[in-house]
Amino acid sequence: MNADNTIRQIVVLGAGYTGMLAAIQLARRTRKMAGVEITLVNPSARFTERLRMHQIAAGQELADHRIPDLLAGSGVAFHQAAATAIDTAARAITLDDGAVLRYDELVYALGSATDTTRVPGAEDHAWTLNDPRLAHRFSVRLTELAAQRGQVTVCGGGLTGIEAATEIAEAHPGLTVTLVSAEQPGAMMGEKARAHLNRALDRLGVIRVVGVKVTKVLPDAVRLDTGELLPSDLTLWTTGVKVSPLAAEAGIATDAKGLVITDATLRSISHPEIHAIGDAAAVYMAWGQVHGTCQTGMASAGYLAAALARQLQGKKVKPFRIGYFHQPVSLGRRDAVIQFTNADDSPKRWYLKGKAAVAYKESVSSSPVPTFKMSKHVAVRAQLSNGGRATRKTA
Ligand SMILES: Cc1cc2nc3c(=O)[nH]c(=O)nc-3n(C[C@H](O)[C@H](O)[C@H](O)COP(=O)(O)OP(=O)(O)OC[C@H]3O[C@@H](n4cnc5c(N)ncnc54)[C@H](O)[C@@H]3O)c2cc1C
Repeated sequence: MNADNTIRQIVVLGAGYTGMLAAIQLARRTRKMAGVEITLVNPSARFTERLRMHQIAAGQELADHRIPDLLAGSGVAFHQAAATAIDTAARAITLDDGAVLRYDELVYALGSATDTTRVPGAEDHAWTLNDPRLAHRFSVRLTELAAQRGQVTVCGGGLTGIEAATEIAEAHPGLTVTLVSAEQPGAMMGEKARAHLNRALDRLGVIRVVGVKVTKVLPDAVRLDTGELLPSDLTLWTTGVKVSPLAAEAGIATDAKGLVITDATLRSISHPEIHAIGDAAAVYMAWGQVHGTCQTGMASAGYLAAALARQLQGKKVKPFRIGYFHQPVSLGRRDAVIQFTNADDSPKRWYLKGKAAVAYKESVSSSPVPTFKMSKHVAVRAQLSNGGRATRKTA
């Protein structure tokens, strides 16, 4: 209990990478404070490893991490449901199972998903890596198609598109895999890392159609802005990002994309009792706006847990500072490339390739679950770069 004998209810929405870490770390950091109750809300009881979604799509079985098991002993209560509305005046969340959760502090960690709404036909005819069950169904269709030596098109040459195209091509050498991209795949990397990436795409036989946009997805083809029709038995959409409309619908200050606009301590600028982290948060540093990745998201979660625990004790909180450290990209199971970066995600000279990069990438993908387990017992930082000198100017 607090001095006034009240319980402080903290609700964390979303049990992805950031919501999980924030909830567990917050419980750890407030364990000696009486009267703090933490509830984590997520539609599924299975923890989704988004970093490995392309592996599911290519037919691999992943470990089944159950959220209640990961939370066991942490003191965090799990509520399996989806949030459908936030009433900021009543400080209450409505859930799709009919429950209403009251909060004193709300952690908004609803993540993001690939947006299929902007190009006609994408919603109806393209697959995404948004949901593990869908990714699994896609993998079943891939196996059937491989028997007929069919054609797969991956739309989007960002890191997700590259990882998906290489994983599919390696797992199904009989398929023709085409990567359609507005920019050169790996455009954000340095020259040497990009050259390695292109060699891997060549080795795996991934055809690149670069400098074009898809204007329409049809059941058996994609139309390009050149007017060309590219035959495609299966189309995977990996480009464009959307976020949950819940914050904007609730009148919480959001940017044009619907991300919750945060101050220097990750509080909503319109509702200071709401804290946003991960892909759903608009976070600004001196070097620019943070774009959603697990590396920055986990850091925002670790920071928030520490900051909110201090805030609840009436202590001062330092601003959040973050910078990028690396761009880890798998190129199938046997190759990878890691581009090390400056705080603003621009490439440094250093990169890793081949076996060392495979081991590095695997350690990145597998580290969140042990981090959750460890964070029940110790305070974790989960941060590889604090943004360097430039961000020290941040207010
Ligand atoms: C194939 C792929 C590979 C990637 N590789 C990398 C990489 O190598 N490195 C890297 O840094 N990043 C990578 N990313 C990006 C990374 O996955 C995201 O940045 C990260 O998942 C963001 O974490 P999050 O907690 O903000 O959101 P998420 O992990 O998306 O979690 C959000 C959670 O909120 C839940 N949720 C959604 N709506 C509701 C609702 N209404 N009510 C309750 N809960 C809800 C979801 O079910 C989910 O559990 C990759 C992404 C993909 C798709």
